[in-house]
Amino acid sequence: MASTQLINPATEAKLQVVEHTTLEGVDDAIARAASAQRAWAALPPANRAGALRDFAAAVGGAIEELAQLEVANSGHPISQARWEAGHVRDVLNYYAAAPERMIGKQIPVAGGLDVTFLEPLGVVGVIVPWNFPMTIASWGFAPALAAGNAVVLKPAEWTPLTAIRLGELAIEAGLPEGLFQVLPGKGSVVGERFVSHELVRKIVFTGSTEVGKRVMAGCAEQVKAVTLELGGKSANIVFADSDLEKAAATAPYAVFENAGQDCCARSRILVERSVFDRFLELLEPAVMGVAVGDPNDEATEMGPLVSKTHFDAVSEYVADDAPVAFRGTKPDGPGYWFAPTVLLPQSRTDRTVTEEIFGPVVSVLPFDDEADAIALANDSMYGLSGSIFTRDVGRAIRVARGVDSGNLSVNSHSSVRYSTPFGGFKQSGLGRELGPDAATAFTETKNVFISTD
Ligand code: NAP
Repeated sequence: MASTQLINPATEAKLQVVEHTTLEGVDDAIARAASAQRAWAALPPANRAGALRDFAAAVGGAIEELAQLEVANSGHPISQARWEAGHVRDVLNYYAAAPERMIGKQIPVAGGLDVTFLEPLGVVGVIVPWNFPMTIASWGFAPALAAGNAVVLKPAEWTPLTAIRLGELAIEAGLPEGLFQVLPGKGSVVGERFVSHELVRKIVFTGSTEVGKRVMAGCAEQVKAVTLELGGKSANIVFADSDLEKAAATAPYAVFENAGQDCCARSRILVERSVFDRFLELLEPAVMGVAVGDPNDEATEMGPLVSKTHFDAVSEYVADDAPVAFRGTKPDGPGYWFAPTVLLPQSRTDRTVTEEIFGPVVSVLPFDDEADAIALANDSMYGLSGSIFTRDVGRAIRVARGVDSGNLSVNSHSSVRYSTPFGGFKQSGLGRELGPDAATAFTETKNVFISTD
């Protein structure tokens, strides 16, 4: 049976070996899921809500264990990993309210009563990337389960440990066998089988734009629903009238958090030309101040890159002749450490400006005025997130409306809250996750007319 030797990216120490699910194993799991789903959907809504609250409580009781697994498997700083585990609990609690609120409509028509029902889809396949293994998994499985579906989940090959533990916690919390199954393995085997299997009625895919397009094409074969959360190259737009100190102090955390392995990373900082030099003066100490080091240390803000393969891919963008303005610090010794890096590309078409690097590398570019800032922000095939720093409220609103992006923040860098919708424009994705409507996205609307004649 195929397997993967997991590596701790901070130390290069070998962790455990994880066996891959075979094609036969995937098919068996999907058949079990289909059967479990029918019983789950038939339960009273309050019982499904209670079961999800029990699952949330089990996750809440395992926060430290889950966080430690993420530190070892993914190199996430412990404080971040604890937040991630707590977020999974919170996402489950939020969607535990949904089963009792899957409310259809009563539509006025002649000759009878017309009502709509929000019917579950059946089995949902969730395919997760390696950058946020727990949180992104929960954005799929929590609302899908709440809407009455079963879930089969494929974690990324490199980072399966927290997802596997979440699958066990679901069982320990009393969720029915087969309802939520975690199937480790390769995307080319397990992921593709989710796409091609007729009993899987929706795919929730988070990952690269390249693979997302293939997944979407595969779903088209069976007219299967699909949500895509893909790459990004988001802009942090800093106007001259902004609180420049705040903009510079926060900019590193908007791109270097999770070592830049964040689809929402503001990896292009666009600065109004009149304050460009001053901004860079303020940015340098902020970048030097990012605490890069041992993920087990409570004070660490940035850990290593996830793997040697990914380290090599990121390194390609910072060749010897790269226009490096300054770099932060990194530890010596083993581990896939990459110092936070600030580039000053000479051209707006440089690949460091247009391509998603997915590492701690940011390009800083000047712009001339509001129209130029919007045009430059939109000059990308992506449109996931972004920030706008200005003290002018009208400008903040004009620019927020002008930037083609799914998640924008003004004078802050927040982008993901479980209670608000999240997703991308253009090649950053299709559909939305999270927020009050996410459970509905895992249903089909059924219309029933009852004659009164
Ligand atoms: P990836 O290579 O596209 O992989 C994502 C997932 O898809 C993994 O589980 C992978 O399995 C699986 N997969 C690979 N080939 C597949 C196929 N042919 N059919 C079905 N599944 C397949 O992406 P990644 O490198 O893990 O993640 C980084 C990317 O994710 C970045 O582009 C980032 O921006 C994006 N991302 C987007 C969001 C968002 O919400 N918009 C959030 C996080 C990350 P293996 O592990 O076996 O390859």
